[in-house]
Amino acid sequence: MKKAAIITVGSELLEGLILNRNAQFLCQELKNLGYRVMKISTIGDHLEDIVDEVKSLFPKVHLLILTGGLGPTRDDLTREAVAKALNRKLFLDQGLKAKIEEKVKKYHSEIPSNIERQAFVIEGAKVIDNPVGSAPGQLLEENGKRVILLPGPPRELIPMFESLKDILKTPHAFHQVTLKYYSIPEAFLEDLLREILYSQDKVEVATMADHVEGVRLRLTTSAEHRKFLDELVEKILEKTGEYLYGINDEKMEEVVVRLLKESGKTLAVAESCTGGMLSSLIVNVPGASNVFVGGVVAYSNDLKKNILGVKEDTLKKYGAVSEQCVREMAEGLKSLTGADICIAISGIAGPTGGIPTKPVGTVLIDLFEQDHVTMRYNFSGDRNTIRTRSAMIALENLRKHLKESGRL
Ligand code: ATP
Ligand code: MG
Repeated sequence: MKKAAIITVGSELLEGLILNRNAQFLCQELKNLGYRVMKISTIGDHLEDIVDEVKSLFPKVHLLILTGGLGPTRDDLTREAVAKALNRKLFLDQGLKAKIEEKVKKYHSEIPSNIERQAFVIEGAKVIDNPVGSAPGQLLEENGKRVILLPGPPRELIPMFESLKDILKTPHAFHQVTLKYYSIPEAFLEDLLREILYSQDKVEVATMADHVEGVRLRLTTSAEHRKFLDELVEKILEKTGEYLYGINDEKMEEVVVRLLKESGKTLAVAESCTGGMLSSLIVNVPGASNVFVGGVVAYSNDLKKNILGVKEDTLKKYGAVSEQCVREMAEGLKSLTGADICIAISGIAGPTGGIPTKPVGTVLIDLFEQDHVTMRYNFSGDRNTIRTRSAMIALENLRKHLKESGRL
């Protein structure tokens, strides 16, 4: 198996100011491409420290990736350090300089003089295009080994790394499929799949669970067993397809927006304890405007009454966290917006405010199209967890509703 190492450059990492997301991302990707990552090191913005680390690691690995320090400022030293460590020259690539200046001109009226630093290329290196920012990456090859320089910001690094995957793949590359479920606990899922999963030894099975992405079943195999894995997925889906919400990177909110589009229906939401979280998740999906009318954050009882038409009587008799209240919120929202589907959420996110009949974590959700589907939950966790779970379970219920009504 080929060995790899990662050097993340940046004093801000050592000061604990930012999380080393690049290292985490690269480790996962390299594993899937068939590398054994033998070391991650983090070095401050000091030339000699970076040079020493490159000199020490490069002889030991097939692939060395450096991130950060490719910007135009004086503390961006990665290019110089790698050139020095590998005894190569740095030269100004005039064509590249013109390209970078062109990019910068789109966003700024003037071109800063230090931008030229980004156009310095290590002798023999191939320039890797940065589709997001101005700092290009570099790829060097030496005796069948590679050194790759990528910029620090993850939103630039990720697409650049994606563009390199094909050339980096090794014969040990993995084939991986992740199946994502929300409303089935992982223990039940395993029970349903026990025979299928554990009567074979070609596919490694891992389950992960959290309240944002639900239960994920990650299936990994070597490239040679790809077909076997695909067949296994078919078998798994026969048993559990009804609970599945997505595959691989697909997020719940993306699935819901897609299903809404397919069904030609519009959505509006009335949120109390989630305070806009559900709206925000939906609006995160590009193209949400085709299906999402909008939302009302009705946190106070007054707003529930005045905007959504919840009856004073209902609030007095049953309280704001009740089946009756969320139904009236959803009905009021329907008159207000005319959306095909209206969802209302009200709950007690804590840490205070619970009563014996409605402890902290009690959440009511109403989904109203022709009829009401009202659900009561009792979530555990801190305030943020309860709110996130409420928003996610609302999406999961909507997903199921759209699936079922699509089938009729
Ligand atoms: P820039 O042109 O933006 O200066 P750069 O390649 O010089 O890019 P750095 O200056 O090292 O990169 O980092 C820029 C920003 O990128 C950091 O402030 C930080 O927000 C983010 N960043 C850098 N390294 C990492 C990392 N390892 N993990 C997550 N984020 C990082
Ligand atoms: Mg920088």
